[in-house]
Amino acid sequence: MKAIDRIGQIYGKLTITGLVYNEKAKRNYALCKCECGNEKVIYISSLIKGATTSCGCYRNQRIKETCEKHGMYKTRLNKEYRGLKQRCYNPKNSRYKYYGGKNINICDEWLGKDGFINFMDWSVENGYNDELTLDRINVDGDYSPDNCRWVTMKIQCNNRTTSRFETFNNETKTVAEWADEVGIKADIIYKRLKRGWSIEKSLTTPPVNNKK
Ligand SMILES: [Zn+2]
Repeated sequence: MKAIDRIGQIYGKLTITGLVYNEKAKRNYALCKCECGNEKVIYISSLIKGATTSCGCYRNQRIKETCEKHGMYKTRLNKEYRGLKQRCYNPKNSRYKYYGGKNINICDEWLGKDGFINFMDWSVENGYNDELTLDRINVDGDYSPDNCRWVTMKIQCNNRTTSRFETFNNETKTVAEWADEVGIKADIIYKRLKRGWSIEKSLTTPPVNNKK
C-alpha cells in the first residue's frame, strides 16, 4: 500500500492525517492525530507493526499507574535515586570522586524528566523490596538497567570488590575506594586479601605486571 493511501487510517489511538517527507531518511513519515488531541510525526512502519499506538500519552498513563501501584516503595527509591545523582553529578558530594570523578554515569533512561519513574519502574520489575541494595555488576560500568541489580546486602558484601569495607590507617573504605586511592586495581587487592594478605600489605605492595 502506498503511504498516501494510508491517510485516514487508524492505528490504536492515532489517525494518520497527512504525510511528512523526511529528507534525511528519504521517506515519508505519517503525521498523526492522537485521541488526546496531540499531533505527532511517526515512522509509518512502527504504526503498521503496532509498535506505536499513541502519541506517548498511553505510555505516560501506564507510568502513572506503575507509580501509584508502587507508591509504597517511592520514598526509599527516591532517596536512593537522589543519592545516585549526587554521587555521579555533584562534585561537592563526598563520594563524587569514586563515581562521577571516575566517569560513572547514569543512563539517559534514568535521567531527565521521567528518570525517576523509569528507575522505579525498572526496580519494581526487577524484584525491588526495601531489604535490597542497588549493585552494579561491572564496578567500572554505569548505572543502567543492563549493569544494575537489586541484591541483598550480604550478596553485595560478598561481591568481589564493590562494597567490601577495609580499614587501614584508621580509615574505612570499600576496596574499590582504596583501589582508587592507592592506584592498584581493586581486583588485585581483592585477590591479595583472599590469599590472606594483610590490608596493609595488599595496599602498599606495588603490583607486578607480567602482561605488558
Ligand atoms: Zn495522545
